[in-house]
Amino acid sequence: MAWDFSTEPEFEEKLEWMRTFVREEVYPLETIDLDEATFRRLTDPLKEEVKRQGLWAAHLDPELGGQGFGQVKLGLMHEILGSSIFAPSIFGNQAPDSGNAELIAIGATDEQKERWLWPLLEGKLRSAFSMTEPETAGSDPTLLKTRAVRDGDEWVINGHKWFTSNGSSADFLVLMAITNPDVHPYQGTSMIIVPVDTPGVDIVRDVPTMGEPDVEFGRYGNHSEIYYRDVRVPYENLIGNEGDGFLLAQKRLGPGRIHHCMRWLGQSKRAFDMLCERALSRYAFGSTLAEKQTVQNWIADSAAEMQAARLMTLHAAWKMDQQGSSAARVEIAMIKYFGAQALYNVIDRAIQIHGALGYSTDLPLEAMYRNARAARLYDGADEVHRVTVARQILKNYAPHDMPSEHIPTRREEAQKKFAALLDQATADL
Ligand SMILES: Cc1cc2nc3c(=O)[nH]c(=O)nc-3n(C[C@H](O)[C@H](O)[C@H](O)COP(=O)(O)OP(=O)(O)OC[C@H]3O[C@@H](n4cnc5c(N)ncnc54)[C@H](O)[C@@H]3O)c2cc1C
Repeated sequence: MAWDFSTEPEFEEKLEWMRTFVREEVYPLETIDLDEATFRRLTDPLKEEVKRQGLWAAHLDPELGGQGFGQVKLGLMHEILGSSIFAPSIFGNQAPDSGNAELIAIGATDEQKERWLWPLLEGKLRSAFSMTEPETAGSDPTLLKTRAVRDGDEWVINGHKWFTSNGSSADFLVLMAITNPDVHPYQGTSMIIVPVDTPGVDIVRDVPTMGEPDVEFGRYGNHSEIYYRDVRVPYENLIGNEGDGFLLAQKRLGPGRIHHCMRWLGQSKRAFDMLCERALSRYAFGSTLAEKQTVQNWIADSAAEMQAARLMTLHAAWKMDQQGSSAARVEIAMIKYFGAQALYNVIDRAIQIHGALGYSTDLPLEAMYRNARAARLYDGADEVHRVTVARQILKNYAPHDMPSEHIPTRREEAQKKFAALLDQATADL
């Protein structure tokens, strides 16, 4: 089947509108230190404009108020939005709310949608996804320890989580917990909605990170450590059926991962533009940096890595559109580690060419670099995605005692195959 990433001219016009809008209206916001209320005051009119353009929450299906764009269009759109950390929230598709909305949309009852989903989509509520635990390897969620035990009409939850992004600014948590320890975790793990103000939910801190070392508790974008101690929530807060946790997580993480990769393309391009601009502007040892071969290599390698990441991302998106996200599992895993590394490399080179200025907070590069480092960890560490890719690829191969390309063996087989003709050729001599 031919690959086709093209979109119609009307959509190209929308992309052009987004480019101008993000550059002129959103980039300037990055430079001002804003509190939550002022940020909302400044961004509410921008959100209204996005809605007027029919581009709000475009990742969602039309029945949820989105555009049902499909992944290729979203890829092209996220590439633009990803260039600024503020743009996704102004377009109604910031993580983790976007992924949580999709998840609740898949598994929720009508009542749950009324209580949680619609307010989430309208931006009236905020959510967080609470799966990773400090005591167990997040890479292997079959090891999760957090327990939810049914007691009549309620769940009683006990556990310890961390790196719940936006936990301290969320209204509710989507919790992953063991509900049946007697079966394999794939069948015994469930997702439950826990309002943050439920007694027993103890958000002990926002973890200081490389991205935010001087963390201010409760700020949007923080990563919270949470104890759940005898937390009681109604049984009907279960999303989907008991034991659906892994199934739902898979549905949420596939699209969520590729949306990250799409946004990284925008971040890489912004760093690349800074790299090229500085190469042409800085003069040392008799020429501009652009004339040094090392710098030319940086530009050429960055361009190639970005192009590869872009095509791999669009291909994965196209496959998701054609065959669904499960069919594109390998492609999504591949772009997750390839894209994260490409992003990191381009930003690193952009810092290097700016020297001390690149390392300073006078440029956005140092912050981009710190955030890019996390890309190799969240939504699955690089190594885990490599395992997925290698395992799937190896399914197409079988072991051979002798390598199938072993030339002496092949020669023997060829001699047998062509014996008659070879004998005749010898006789004709
Ligand atoms: C910025 C950020 C935001 C996050 N947001 C959330 C969130 O909102 N909700 C949430 O629940 N979690 C969140 N996480 C947690 C994230 O999902 C986990 O960090 C990730 O799954 C890895 O788990 P871990 O940290 O426990 O590392 P571990 O599982 O302990 O792994 C540590 C290292 O071991 C190596 N490793 C693991 N498995 C293999 C393997 N099979 N082969 C080779 N090497 C391997 C890898 O190098 C890996 O980095 C976030 C993390 C970050 C950094």
